[in-house]
Amino acid sequence: MLSPAHRLIPIYAAVAELPSLPRAASGDGTLDKLARPLRDLRISLTDRCNFRCTYCMPKEVFGTGYQYLPHERILSFEEIERLTRAAVSLGVTKIRLTGGEPLLRKGIEVLVGQLTRLRTPDGDPVDVTLTTNGSLLRQKAKSLREAGMTRITVSLDALDQRVFSTMSGSATDVTAVLDGIDAARDLGFSPIKINTVVRRGVNEDEVIPIVRRFRGTGVIPRFIEFMDVGSTNHWELRDVVPSSELVRRIEMVYPLASSGTRPGRATSRTYDFADGSGHVGFISSVTEPFCADCSRLRLTADGRLFTCLFGADGFDVRSALQRDADQPELERILRGVWSGRSDRYSESRGSEGGATAAHHAEMSLLGG
Ligand code: SAM
Ligand code: SF4
Ligand code: SF4
Repeated sequence: MLSPAHRLIPIYAAVAELPSLPRAASGDGTLDKLARPLRDLRISLTDRCNFRCTYCMPKEVFGTGYQYLPHERILSFEEIERLTRAAVSLGVTKIRLTGGEPLLRKGIEVLVGQLTRLRTPDGDPVDVTLTTNGSLLRQKAKSLREAGMTRITVSLDALDQRVFSTMSGSATDVTAVLDGIDAARDLGFSPIKINTVVRRGVNEDEVIPIVRRFRGTGVIPRFIEFMDVGSTNHWELRDVVPSSELVRRIEMVYPLASSGTRPGRATSRTYDFADGSGHVGFISSVTEPFCADCSRLRLTADGRLFTCLFGADGFDVRSALQRDADQPELERILRGVWSGRSDRYSESRGSEGGATAAHHAEMSLLGG
């Protein structure tokens, strides 16, 4: 029996019947109902992971009996490439590979090579990047770089081994992740960003050590407010450490030059250190939601499109890929899904009571 988050809605069939939906003439490509363009595609390559982060895949839920996506339901690289090509033709310029743990997916560098060869309608290369827990990065960094990847994000919640193990739910040595980051630096990945989810009373004391370690190295730490994604991580507001509090704490030790900017459609508000030794970012989805600028579409490993992290079931596009739908049809499906989108969950969380779906898909399925 599949878990609720794995149910499929054969909605592509309905979408495929839609008349051609309008494209904005402004150069913004396809717009959703709130006039947000489609710019980013996050592709989850697997729902499996070798970590059990408490805020994402808590051990008590993701134990031996947990039903992961069966292999035969996972999209092939060829299917992912076809769908991505259609998304790029509609305006996507940034692609992020994620999971689960994307480096567990065999031959990932082959897919990276396929995706870095894609070009926008203006002939520009697309930006292909990856979010990883870093445990396999030392082994994989070289082949990813050779396949054309230049940027990378590594999740790292603590430098202290005890806190790292608590947060990651894994026996991995934190030095394996730090080695992976060093390997990526040596190979010229730039920028390298660090994602640190901060939980009240668990790893908040790791924030200053993380800043200290990466200041002046070109690596950019970003602190993420613990989010209520999924329905298994026992999220409570009191476990969230607001970014404003972290900014004050960091500033007391390392003065900041700017008041923080969030350029374009970035998820993170970035501050510069006053002494010119780099930047630090904050992703504040709980206290400073950024739905108004959200241009991200998510593709799950089994071929469902989610227009919001807080969606329930998504829209099946795998069936279309499997019956060899051509690019115009894939574009029509994507345009239909995006044009119907009005999600703004994080903005309505407080004012309108938040969740509209009976259940939320898990972060390990959606990929963050
Ligand atoms: N396994 C990879 C990793 O951890 O980098 C990629 C997938 S992970 C789901 C993507 C990002 O989502 C990670 O940076 C992780 O820290 C973040 N994340 C997961 N659950 C979260 C939550 N409840 N709140 C905020 N961020 C979360
Ligand atoms: Fe795995 Fe990433 Fe989720 Fe941690 S955050 S359990 S590393 S998918
Ligand atoms: Fe985008 Fe949904 Fe997150 Fe808002 S809550 S920023 S719409 S993914």
